[in-house]
Amino acid sequence: MNDPKDKHKSIPPWTDQEVADLNWYQQSGWHEYTCNSDGCRNALVATTDGWVCPACGYKQQWVAKMVLAMGKARTTPEEAIKQRAN
Ligand SMILES: [Zn+2]
Repeated sequence: MNDPKDKHKSIPPWTDQEVADLNWYQQSGWHEYTCNSDGCRNALVATTDGWVCPACGYKQQWVAKMVLAMGKARTTPEEAIKQRAN
């Protein structure tokens, strides 16, 4: 799950800009990254050290690079559909 050689995943530290992009993504309408703890499933919050669950303290140390790119581009689900139609 946390293989740094996985070219599709980005591992922390993340920059302040990447953190802002990821936290934007969490609010964008896409299915958000959620806590993996049993019975928690809270939305995760991005920090420069990785994802943190504000409810239980669960941490996750990777994100899909595609998600990072979508956050950076501020691509909403509606925007993605529009781009696909063009
Ligand atoms: Zn949690």
